[in-house]
Amino acid sequence: MPILFMGHGSPMNAIEDNEFSRTWIEIGKSLPLPTAILCISAHWESEGTQVTAMKNPKTIHDFGGFPQELYDVQYPAPGSPELANRISQLITTTNVALNQNWGLDHGTWSVLARLFPKANIPVVQLSIDRSHSPSFNYELGQQLLPLREEGVLILSSGNIVHNLRLIVWENTAFDWAVEFDSKVRQWIVDNDHQSIIQYEKQGKSAQLSINSGEHYLPLLYALGAKNENEPVQFYCEKVWGGSLSMRCLRIG
Ligand code: ZN
Repeated sequence: MPILFMGHGSPMNAIEDNEFSRTWIEIGKSLPLPTAILCISAHWESEGTQVTAMKNPKTIHDFGGFPQELYDVQYPAPGSPELANRISQLITTTNVALNQNWGLDHGTWSVLARLFPKANIPVVQLSIDRSHSPSFNYELGQQLLPLREEGVLILSSGNIVHNLRLIVWENTAFDWAVEFDSKVRQWIVDNDHQSIIQYEKQGKSAQLSINSGEHYLPLLYALGAKNENEPVQFYCEKVWGGSLSMRCLRIG
């Protein structure tokens, strides 16, 4: 099964017809049908690593100030307690707690509504614990690799460049955002994962692009589960709003 990293941007992409949502629909059509989906979303941070283990995860509208139409969106995919258990056994570098309270946040459903609009494939979310180092997150991704053989789609959802403090609500791109986004693209092509993991050493453009790590870290899970010789395809190669990279990638 391939791996996806989705640059999700605004939750409006779930319902708005635009260049990004149209591409997401096409990506969805090109994918093999997974047995289940494991999503690592920027919007679920927790103390300690957790995995959703309920049978019917709720749709979480974790944002404010959007039109009612967006709050009306439901993504009623089933959960998978079996997959949650499997993941908690597969990960050995930390304890993975089974969670019964979370559900599907917008980092997950805004993208899945486009990729798999029927919402009939079981979905499980894995949380991000930001108290750990970036390499810890990368190593968690490595441990997820066997799931791909079992038909599970690993889908991480964030944004390579994400700085909401500097965002401007128009179709423009800051130079530093384009610079860092292009650097990451090249490191991905070169399989230079160490440069991506050690983003804190990458200077001014990295600093401005990652003012908090939660939207960047999902990328490390996707790359961690990559085999070295696998091809990578890029989509939505664009910085929007000055400081938001919409870049998506498919591995394998
Ligand atoms: Zn987000």
